[in-house]
Amino acid sequence: MTKYRDTIIIGAGLSGLVVANKLSRTFPTHSFALVEKDRTTGGVIRSFVDGGFQAEYGPHGFLDNCQESRDLLTQTGLDKECVKAPLSTFVRYVCIGGKLQMIPQSPLKIIKAPLIPWRDKVKVLGDLFKKPLGGEPTVAKWADYRFGKALLPYVDAVFTGTYAGDYNELKIDAVMPGVRALEKQYGSVIRGAIVKARLAKKQATSVKKLEMPAMTSFPGGMQRLTDKLAESLSPGENLFLNTQASGVTKTASGWQVTSSTASFNCRNIVLALPLNQALPFLGMLDSSLPSTHIPEAWIATVVFGYKNATLPPGFGFLIPEIEKRFILGTLFSSNMFPNRAPEGHIVFETLVGGRRHPERLELADEELISQCLRDCEDLLDLPNQPVYTKVLRPAGGIPQLEKDYPRLLSWKNTLVQNHPGLFICGFGWEGIGLNDMIKKAAYIAEDVGHGNRQGKKEEGLKKVYF
Ligand SMILES: Cc1cc2nc3c(=O)[nH]c(=O)nc-3n(C[C@H](O)[C@H](O)[C@H](O)COP(=O)(O)OP(=O)(O)OC[C@H]3O[C@@H](n4cnc5c(N)ncnc54)[C@H](O)[C@@H]3O)c2cc1C
Repeated sequence: MTKYRDTIIIGAGLSGLVVANKLSRTFPTHSFALVEKDRTTGGVIRSFVDGGFQAEYGPHGFLDNCQESRDLLTQTGLDKECVKAPLSTFVRYVCIGGKLQMIPQSPLKIIKAPLIPWRDKVKVLGDLFKKPLGGEPTVAKWADYRFGKALLPYVDAVFTGTYAGDYNELKIDAVMPGVRALEKQYGSVIRGAIVKARLAKKQATSVKKLEMPAMTSFPGGMQRLTDKLAESLSPGENLFLNTQASGVTKTASGWQVTSSTASFNCRNIVLALPLNQALPFLGMLDSSLPSTHIPEAWIATVVFGYKNATLPPGFGFLIPEIEKRFILGTLFSSNMFPNRAPEGHIVFETLVGGRRHPERLELADEELISQCLRDCEDLLDLPNQPVYTKVLRPAGGIPQLEKDYPRLLSWKNTLVQNHPGLFICGFGWEGIGLNDMIKKAAYIAEDVGHGNRQGKKEEGLKKVYF
């Protein structure tokens, strides 16, 4: 039997859950159904706990510098539960020349720190005098042009930490549109950042002191966020689990969604799917689809628990490719948030694989553990053997915003304009971070709830912090 809802949302990861949650809270007369192919909600967000050791299959946290995410926490009451690790007090490290180098947390301290020789620091200032780089350069090419070669390992580490990506492939316009806009608007990233910082400081004094953001999670891990969002949904009424959407077609009055268990007629359809999983549906609507797949970076997380050991202070470390290590980096989980390990123990999570080394994920768990351990023992002061190890393999890969992405994004935006009642959010479309997902999903819920069948034009720039 075909059911009717005002809106059908496909995919109950964070994106779909935010749309559903906002619709039910703000527009209670608007009927919707959220269809999800798995037996649980949350998508790639999944927390892990075993014998007092806590870790994450997917995201570890998000920065509290996004208004829509802060609003979501307040509206759901999660603001009273969340745990925070402020960037101002937590340093990070980058492995250079086989050693962990501490990266200070303020731009001024970074300039003063002996990370690169002074002559290379002078080269960084070349940014002030260079024209914006034309075309669609990769991150590596762009960073080399603006700041010189000495910074490249650090830039590589940043994109390893966020995309598990290859900065020789990622496009700067796609991954840092805000920074690229500073370059274009002010003729220099440094000049643009100074102007923006001054402006922000001026605005902040009248309201609140400008602060560095904080990494945010929950005592039970990130899954608390999606579990909480799903709490208000009713299975069989507005939540359909084990229901894989298989087709979308346009009808005279809206849309029809077919799935493995039911079909729905609706006025609006929200595709809240990772980019690659949304593409087959978009191809059903317009055969001029410019690309059927973009690359993804898959990682595995290897969890290590130790008794009577200490970690260096801070969030953890990242390793640029040039170091030729097995691991991508490590999160000092028990430093970041309380109660991640039993009393007298520490826990850290080491990441492996990524865009450059998918072959490493083919290894059996024991081999992964032993190879990761070799790097960790070399870089950290670990007095004994781990008392706990576990390999976690996330449910999804991280979409890589590489050469086909800009064309795909602009094609998608035109498609949406041509199909009133079609809304698209999800992993990889407008960024990859949790804040990006929450922001876009909240906008879509507003549009849908207010009866706008055409989404708002994309808003402002992304923050420098993802
Ligand atoms: C390993 C990893 C680490 C990450 N770390 C961070 C981090 O630390 N900080 C951060 O900000 N972000 C991080 N991210 C990104 C963040 O997790 C994502 O931005 C976010 O979770 C994506 O949510 P989503 O709902 O868009 O997609 P998903 O979580 O992928 O959800 C999509 C849902 O759609 C369902 N689905 C797919 N096809 C169908 C279909 N045909 N019918 C019905 N349902 C369907 C899927 O089963 C899934 O439940 C990380 C991601 C990964 C993979």
